Amino acid sequence: MPGRIHLYVPGPTNIPDSILGAMHVAMEDHRRPDFPALVTPLLEDLKKIFKTQTGQCFVFPATGTAGWEIALTNTLSPGDKVLSYRFGQFSHLWIDLAKRLGLDVEYEEVPWGRGVPLDQLEARLKEDKNHEIKAVLICHNETATGVTNDLAAVRKTIDAANHPALYFIDGVSSIASIDFRMDEWKVDVALSGSQKGFMLPAGLALLCFSQKALAARANAKCRRAFLDIQDHINANKDGFFPYTPSIPLLYGLRKAIDLLLEEELDNVFARHARLAEGVRRAVKAWGLTLCAQEAKWYSNTVSAIVVPQGYDARDVMHYAYNRYNLSLGAGLSEVMGKVFRIGHLGDLNELMLCSAIAGTEMAMRDAGIQTTPGSGIAAACEYWRETAPAIKPR
Ligand code: PLP
Repeated sequence: MPGRIHLYVPGPTNIPDSILGAMHVAMEDHRRPDFPALVTPLLEDLKKIFKTQTGQCFVFPATGTAGWEIALTNTLSPGDKVLSYRFGQFSHLWIDLAKRLGLDVEYEEVPWGRGVPLDQLEARLKEDKNHEIKAVLICHNETATGVTNDLAAVRKTIDAANHPALYFIDGVSSIASIDFRMDEWKVDVALSGSQKGFMLPAGLALLCFSQKALAARANAKCRRAFLDIQDHINANKDGFFPYTPSIPLLYGLRKAIDLLLEEELDNVFARHARLAEGVRRAVKAWGLTLCAQEAKWYSNTVSAIVVPQGYDARDVMHYAYNRYNLSLGAGLSEVMGKVFRIGHLGDLNELMLCSAIAGTEMAMRDAGIQTTPGSGIAAACEYWRETAPAIKPR
């Protein structure tokens, strides 16, 4: 089909031309003496995205899934108890991976569409007088349901229980798009992937360890080899990697961080919030609801939209892709067929999102869902117009 594919899955996201250009490089020697001029400032500037001064960042040639494993194996021992909450496919997969690593995973089932129950977390931590729980694993933004947890509130809860557990965050679909503060919220390991807010192809797992997490390595007996951060610590201190890095992705990451810092993180977060609210206005105008059950959990990077009873969200996706070149995110696992998702993160503006909303509207009608033509797009556009930054009259 001629024309662009309109990519509105919640990762991989659209890559700005300037990043595509930055990645278009001839290969070079990753052991050349001036290679550290690329690597050292890159690792340093990545700390600004995680908002840390005391933490240490790592870049692995891997994806977010490896990030989960890096966090756990570098800090814990088989049989260690970790506490988590299962409220979507990604929190589910992290729990599953932790189990497979031999950790003793205690988790609560939370209805998909809700976030971490803070009262339960506090009660459980208070009850754990012997501090058997070694780490709390929280998925910041559950990409499957469009639910964002309040990480400052989770930190307050851990502190209120006066519990020393490590605090681990999956920030794959939040970091660089939704406010995240490593130091302020005393997060111990935060992990992300390159293909979402960082606007790159998949292929990099981006992590930050606190000093407390780095110290936990001394007693961590989980087997690790390729994913051992010690090899990175040794090589990174001189500006190198312990094995062959993906040179184009490193140049892409350099450009991505430059773009994020140039726009300024607060503006990046505000842009995501405003674009997301436009999508939510469209959903409301269609007469539909989000999977996220309360406004406090609404995600600014992805909206999971519930189709009315009797319809299958896969039909919407089918028409969107095959008729209009529009890729929407699928409903995963427990919400398969019940929701489809619009990813609204990364390199994005109002008119780009108009294509997602207009295409969704057409595809929903093709799938038999009776929405008023133009209702969603009108609601989103009016909101964006009313909240557009002031500019000088001509
Ligand atoms: N965590 C979250 C919240 C995600 O959205 C994803 C992927 O979409 C992952 C983890 C897994 O990341 P990856 O697919 O890069 O391994």
